Amino acid sequence: MNEKRVRGLSIPTGLENAPHKDITDYLFSNGNRLLTATGADLALPEDTQSLIAYFSNGEVIISRTHRYDGRVLALLELLAAQNRTARTPFYSDLGLVSGIYKAYAANLGGGVSKSRLDYDNQMQKDFVDIIGRAAAQKVSDIHIEVADQTTIYFRLDGSMRAVLEYNSAWGESFVRAAFASSDISNTNYAQNEYQSAQKDGRTPLRGTKDLYLPDGIIGIRMQFNPIAFGSRYVAMRLLYDNPTEGIKTEQEFGEYEQRLLMRLRSFPTGMTVVAGPTSSGKSTTLVRNMSMMLKERNYEINLITVEDPAEQKIFGAHQMPVVNTYNEEQREEKFTEALAAALRSDPDTLMVGEIRTLSAAQLTVKGALSGHNVWTTLHANSAMAALTRLLDMGVEGFKLKDETMMRGLVSMRLFKKLCPYCRERLADQQDHPSYKRVLDAFGEIGLAQVYVRGAGCEQCKGLGTIGRIKAGEIIITDSTFLTLALAGDTGRAIKYWLENLGGRTLKESATELMLAGVIGAGELERWVGLLDQPGVY
Ligand SMILES: [Zn+2]
Repeated sequence: MNEKRVRGLSIPTGLENAPHKDITDYLFSNGNRLLTATGADLALPEDTQSLIAYFSNGEVIISRTHRYDGRVLALLELLAAQNRTARTPFYSDLGLVSGIYKAYAANLGGGVSKSRLDYDNQMQKDFVDIIGRAAAQKVSDIHIEVADQTTIYFRLDGSMRAVLEYNSAWGESFVRAAFASSDISNTNYAQNEYQSAQKDGRTPLRGTKDLYLPDGIIGIRMQFNPIAFGSRYVAMRLLYDNPTEGIKTEQEFGEYEQRLLMRLRSFPTGMTVVAGPTSSGKSTTLVRNMSMMLKERNYEINLITVEDPAEQKIFGAHQMPVVNTYNEEQREEKFTEALAAALRSDPDTLMVGEIRTLSAAQLTVKGALSGHNVWTTLHANSAMAALTRLLDMGVEGFKLKDETMMRGLVSMRLFKKLCPYCRERLADQQDHPSYKRVLDAFGEIGLAQVYVRGAGCEQCKGLGTIGRIKAGEIIITDSTFLTLALAGDTGRAIKYWLENLGGRTLKESATELMLAGVIGAGELERWVGLLDQPGVY
């Protein structure tokens, strides 16, 4: 241990066996401050506060039975990382540790006046209330914009709608309360910085004893951004415990894609990468395929997932979360650590939430090379681009060239489905921007089958669309395809895939949906480009 950081004992000899009250009085004497108290420098979540206490003079008090608890070790690591003074810990029973926090709350208050606490608590109640309202509507994301006034938007089936308006002072307090309620932040709230935080639904909001996220919400992820012409812009993703909530009206792939996915699931080894931009449905695709694989194999496989955070429960899987992270850098480190641990835990199948770093990519590839069936997601625009992205991250081409390793490349988008009650025929709308392109591409017969979004009706609550549907492209590789693609010959690789492997592009899948009247011409062109242009790779 670093000598510089350790200066003597936390509790002097002789006081060790004294009554708790005497020890507590000693600890709080001479202006010594409890830095792990709620609202203090190193505020810990409520559940960790009963395990460890850390004071400004370097005293560390730890519950004896929790000396190897991850939460305790994480704080000790953090103290070391921040080069803070830490005395030799005093190991005691839980009663002393929680007594310390009780004494803090009762006597010292840390300069926080009663009225201030009440006020914060009210804002936290508002925070829970708004999440509750969103959850009741199965909203996927809440956006809060604080400017001259505060506007709260709910995203439902991909569309944003302004639902609430308040003044800007309320917004400022609301955003602060949201940040203060989260689990992750040992950093202080900073108005002009990009900050992220998350709140686990299983523990009370930080600084409260009995205020929890609404039922059915297992957590929320929050991103705090500064904005021009305003003060703050916050995006919150709601994580539901029932995976179909929040995406309730999301329709799965068609039969053709389902068949290919089943083939990918049946391979005993190798890697499948699901690519797509944010909110393209890639993580629900991953989770759904893992659930189906477990079922298909009669739950007789060891399926381990590494996710940050786990978004949906997968029955029958071992889901390993990324724990005890205090900042972004540490998160990536811990993610790699969890992934390495998963590989050492005898998995048959491994699901890696999302590959963001080279070290995570290398471990994932290693898993596939060493005889596991591995599924992961990547932020990339097409199936081909997923391969390029792995190369760009630094994964060596020779590792990706083996078709028993690099099995599948999947890419997708979520398209809004037209309301069947109020959709309108494109043929009747000669001035619609897509009219001429559809006519040129599919002729009169094609045109007659295509619909566009109508004005909205009672059935679709005036939106013109109801729910969304997945469409995508799936490449099951072979060695010729991989050789062409990894040599950078994308055009020939695509041609080979389409002609020799029976491939079907995202644009083709989406066109089929358009010609069936399921999605509108405008929606198709929005996601896959204009109909008279070739697809983009
Ligand atoms: Zn309608």
